[in-house]
Amino acid sequence: MKSLNLWPNPNPRILQCRSIPPSPSPSPSSVQCHSSLTQHPLRCAVLGAGFAGLSVVWHLFKQCPKELNLSIDIYDEVGIGGGASGISGGLLHPYSPKVKLLWEGAQCWKESMKLLRIAEEASVSKDCRTGESVEDMRAFVAHKRGILRPATDMKNVIKLNDNVKTCLPSCRVETLNNEKAQSLLPGVCLPFNTAFYMPEALNIDSQHYLQALYRGCENLVKESSTLGSGQKQLSLHKRSVHKLSDFEGEYDAVLICLGAKVNMLPEISGRLPLRTCRGVIVNLELPDDMIGYPENGPSILSDAWIAVQGPRSVNVGSTWEWKSMNSSSNVSSDEASNAVLQLLPKACTIYPGIKDWVFTGARGGLRAMPPLTALGSLPLLGCINDVIGRNHSCKYWLFGGLGSRGLLYHAWLGNLMAQAVLSCNEKVIPAELTSWKATQTKM
Ligand SMILES: Cc1cc2nc3c(=O)[nH]c(=O)nc-3n(C[C@H](O)[C@H](O)[C@H](O)COP(=O)(O)OP(=O)(O)OC[C@H]3O[C@@H](n4cnc5c(N)ncnc54)[C@H](O)[C@@H]3O)c2cc1C
Repeated sequence: MKSLNLWPNPNPRILQCRSIPPSPSPSPSSVQCHSSLTQHPLRCAVLGAGFAGLSVVWHLFKQCPKELNLSIDIYDEVGIGGGASGISGGLLHPYSPKVKLLWEGAQCWKESMKLLRIAEEASVSKDCRTGESVEDMRAFVAHKRGILRPATDMKNVIKLNDNVKTCLPSCRVETLNNEKAQSLLPGVCLPFNTAFYMPEALNIDSQHYLQALYRGCENLVKESSTLGSGQKQLSLHKRSVHKLSDFEGEYDAVLICLGAKVNMLPEISGRLPLRTCRGVIVNLELPDDMIGYPENGPSILSDAWIAVQGPRSVNVGSTWEWKSMNSSSNVSSDEASNAVLQLLPKACTIYPGIKDWVFTGARGGLRAMPPLTALGSLPLLGCINDVIGRNHSCKYWLFGGLGSRGLLYHAWLGNLMAQAVLSCNEKVIPAELTSWKATQTKM
């Protein structure tokens, strides 16, 4: 951005990158491209501070060679968690609605757990929201209650029972009959006497997680300065991005992590196979004179989901309004009433006690939905210089289309994206995630 004047040297050298064979994890050779230029800082702009943006920032600092000067500017018009990530339901597990392990579910789950631990550690030292020291903030990042998935039709039961056989040892799926389910969550209603319980599945407090992850990024920057190695810098700029060309000449790499609003950039508009879908979540609370949700009662996944925040607070989601362009987190009273009318009857089918809970608020967000492939709905990644056309002095990378599973995908894909950027080598990203470009560039 010309007007920002952030850089002491306004005449950056274009990095000459060699092609490096794919590697499963960062290795000295995979970051050779930039480490050979230690005089010249690697300057990255990360557009968007949601799950995608913050994950890639953390991995860039983590994987960057010690001696390399790395400077990252994050741009977000709202701030950390300003988009779908900040309002997300926070449900995290590696399975489809039919309890089938998703594409690369094991990697995704492992990397999400790792990033979650980083965020938890970063938040233990200090409360990210108040700045006060606290003894243990772990509970704020993740509610570790597990998730219960009741079977909702007979065909489902057979299919689901089959899928369960391939579940991950680190995120088990147990089949429960009505009696066992009642002992876990009294009052739960199982139409087919069967539910699938994922004891390790989580419910994340998305806003808090993102704040903590940002702190984790800051910690990496601080650590590297005490090691006396190459300089690392991180800045968060609260401002809108209007066009990609504003970044030309100022950065070596621009990482586009704008969620559903990516299509609003003129250089990209109409060139990505993404559809938008707005979702609304309602918050309900239980009056004081009623018995609260059981202390370790699981969250519920069904036609509507119930994400438990505490004994007297739950979030219920979510609506699906395809083609919406409304990305605001604010929900009008009409939109909130419609969401309550849609969601509560579905939630009541599985947990009838929800009728006693009282509406206290609603929030909304816009999902960036990628096309459905034989492997499922896979995010869109890759270098997009070809897609946006023209010769550019910097590389533009897309990390988008996280759909409704951003929490599961963001950590592993942030890791891969950082490897690709540091090595200037798109081939470290699995072809399944970059193959969308083959059809787009032909358009
Ligand atoms: C109602 C709802 C419930 C969901 N529940 C879950 C769930 O339980 N589990 C799960 O895994 N996923 C869930 N998701 C999906 C998940 O939220 C997304 O997959 C994820 O947030 C996408 O992350 P992102 O970083 O790509 O985009 P975003 O989180 O949208 O981040 C994009 C960022 O870019 C910023 N931005 C956008 N345009 C501009 C611009 N022009 N200039 C500057 N900044 C800009 C925004 O402010 C935002 O901070 C849910 C989504 C919705 C809508």
